[in-house]
Amino acid sequence: MHINGHTRPTAVIGWPVAQSLSPAMHNAAYADLGLNWVCLPLAVPDQRALLAFTEAARRLPFVGFNVTMPHKQAMAELCDEVATLAQMAGAVNTVHCEDGRLIGYNTDGRGLLEALADEADFNPAGTSVAVVGAGGASGAAVTAFILAKAGRLALINRDVDRAERLLERVENRLHGMEVTTHSLDASAAAAVRDADLVVNATPVGMGIEDPSPIPIEWLRPGQVVFDMVYRPGTTTLVREAARIGASAYSGLSMLVAQGALAIDIWAGADRGQFRAPRDIMRSAAEVEMAAWHVPDGAGAP
Ligand code: NAP
Repeated sequence: MHINGHTRPTAVIGWPVAQSLSPAMHNAAYADLGLNWVCLPLAVPDQRALLAFTEAARRLPFVGFNVTMPHKQAMAELCDEVATLAQMAGAVNTVHCEDGRLIGYNTDGRGLLEALADEADFNPAGTSVAVVGAGGASGAAVTAFILAKAGRLALINRDVDRAERLLERVENRLHGMEVTTHSLDASAAAAVRDADLVVNATPVGMGIEDPSPIPIEWLRPGQVVFDMVYRPGTTTLVREAARIGASAYSGLSMLVAQGALAIDIWAGADRGQFRAPRDIMRSAAEVEMAAWHVPDGAGAP
């Protein structure tokens, strides 16, 4: 990477952001593509910092930026324009800076579809899916399954009111998809058992000792199980689902795809049809993750 007077910044903003894999993935892609851009992790701890950053992004030569927890919902309110999928998801994870205007997108949902297609050869059209969680990532997943014409969706959350509020946002766009909401109860167990695909959209699994977000007994052999969590490595859900004969995948491929789709938006605006190098981004993310596991901590970010 050669930084000079023409280098344009991109960023991933969030809190905490020190362990984000996005700078490694994005900078590897920019180098491969010959783009004179750099991606920086920027710690944005609160709403005040978010407002200050967005004003700076309007005035400085930012190409765009990615938004991670906890600002994806707030960012939707701060953009000048929000793409339909991001409106439906209620969250913005990608912003394109264009002539002082901030255009918000959500690439998590399409990233999930891309990951399911590439890793699991799974097309949601006409299938039954169960999504656990009702936050920003779940909103993106629900939007993606509407887009992909899933037949049935069960939305499961410990706070069932939140699941209902999420579905209210998209109820006019369901195009015949059947939806049900459940708390973590017996009806959820039945919905999970019926599903062709089960998605974890909660952070349960990010802790080394975390259990599965749902009882493993709810799963059955032959299902596809996708865990959006990708750190610290294999989660209890992925490990146990594989053990009982389901096809189980971690969220790393989704992370790579949502980042690649952000680059596609930023670079494609000038170049038309465009595809960021997913394989290079994934390798960069894997190298970065391996560094976290250096025993003496010397490689920790
Ligand atoms: P969020 O908006 O904070 O929502 C979290 C959801 O998880 C809520 O529905 C919450 O339930 C539920 N939850 C939290 N702790 C729980 C627990 N102990 N037991 C049961 N449910 C629990 O978070 P988010 O932005 O949706 O992100 C969720 C996860 O997806 C994170 O781990 C994030 O890293 C991951 N993610 C991955 C990718 C990827 O590319 N792989 C992309 C986006 C997000 P309540 O409503 O009841 O509080």
